[in-house]
Amino acid sequence: MQRQQSIIEESLKAVMEDEEFLPDLKAQTRDQAYKSLVALLSTPNHIHKSFLRVALENGTIVRIPAFRVQHSDTVGPYKGGIRFHHSVNDEEVANLAKLMTLKNALHELPFGGGKGGVVINPKEYTVKELNLICKKYVQYFNDILGPDKDIPAPDVGTGEREMDWMMGEFKNIHPGEPYRNSFTGKSVVNGGSLGRREATGKGVYFTFRYMMHNFVKENKKWLGDTENIFAHAALDHVEKKSKIAVQGFGNLGSVAALEAYQCNYLQNKVVAVSDANVMLYNEDGLDIPALVKFTEDHDGELPKNEEELVECESKAEIKNRDDLLEMDVDVLILAALEDQIHEDNMEDIKAKIIVEGANGPITEKADTYLADKGVLIIPDILANAGGVIVSYYEWVQGREAQFLTEEEVFKRLYDKMKVTMDTILPQFFGDPFPLRQNCYIHSVMKLSTIMYRQGKLY
Ligand code: GLU
Repeated sequence: MQRQQSIIEESLKAVMEDEEFLPDLKAQTRDQAYKSLVALLSTPNHIHKSFLRVALENGTIVRIPAFRVQHSDTVGPYKGGIRFHHSVNDEEVANLAKLMTLKNALHELPFGGGKGGVVINPKEYTVKELNLICKKYVQYFNDILGPDKDIPAPDVGTGEREMDWMMGEFKNIHPGEPYRNSFTGKSVVNGGSLGRREATGKGVYFTFRYMMHNFVKENKKWLGDTENIFAHAALDHVEKKSKIAVQGFGNLGSVAALEAYQCNYLQNKVVAVSDANVMLYNEDGLDIPALVKFTEDHDGELPKNEEELVECESKAEIKNRDDLLEMDVDVLILAALEDQIHEDNMEDIKAKIIVEGANGPITEKADTYLADKGVLIIPDILANAGGVIVSYYEWVQGREAQFLTEEEVFKRLYDKMKVTMDTILPQFFGDPFPLRQNCYIHSVMKLSTIMYRQGKLY
């Protein structure tokens, strides 16, 4: 199923119907241009699929399905993560690759969109086997990858370790050629960027905070006068001490929760967090630093029984992880997997603001339902771009072999996100249609302008 296709098509239509946009595009070709752009966005340029032949430590040889989808290179080389998850398939990877095209265009990064996937549960493999899987991935897709062709990065189930291994293999296969910027999200010692690991979580919380604190508070008077339902959801929020729930406590959720905990611009308290095992709840606010410390020492897992809670020295009730989405909170930060809010639970959502840290965590049906109710959804391509933005800085640093301090990286990250938000937010709060659509409109304007300039639309 094509994710978000109808909203993408609506955005394209709105762009193409605006006669002031690309005025030299002849009237009779505007409809053709619309059709070409629909085709461009709904189908990827290439789907590369292979079966990685891997010898396990017990002697068995297995064939593991693996993909690299190259969605669009209109703006630059393909760019996007590689996901290790037992449920990935080519269709899902293609959807995620399309989101990367839109995300990179939205934030004015010089990249197209791509995504990779390997159908495994990484927890079921030994370190040696995972290392082999990473090397095989690079060997199989070697021809299509490279610093100016397609630059992978971490995604669900992968991290610095995997990117280091992959870059190492790329270097072996291409002796004497540039390799440092063939993969991003590497460890710092191996040419990665300071701040890359925290970038997505910090960016997610920054997007939310900038929007609420800087934009909404600053424009309170103007916003108070508008009929825009989303502006009112935001205004209500900044007036009070808000309760936040974070779904997912991995690299993304834990950093976003910590940022919310430490933020002194807004009066937030994080009352609920969850992982694959449990939800932890405390009405007065959880001790996030203690939980982060605990997960660091316990293979990434939150305390899941009373004994572990005592060890963690954090006051919390243990609840069912699946109830987190329906808790009575003001803000939900979704930092787990896709399709978490859907037809069956959308009516039970109480939060008035939802921040999409994960890619595609709300199904299209639920998205429309919640938007109609006036829930302000800060979409994935706006909120979770911190990772790929710092990947861009890593790529540049790799080219120049000159490295930035952590402070410089975060400053550049926030500056970039601010520029995007300063472009999008006045339009969004002016015109009451969902923020996702505002973002898509900006992305497709960028894509069509480039296609026009390159002579692909006339
Ligand atoms: N996987 C991340 C994303 O979905 C990062 C991609 C990148 O850094 O290229 O945005």
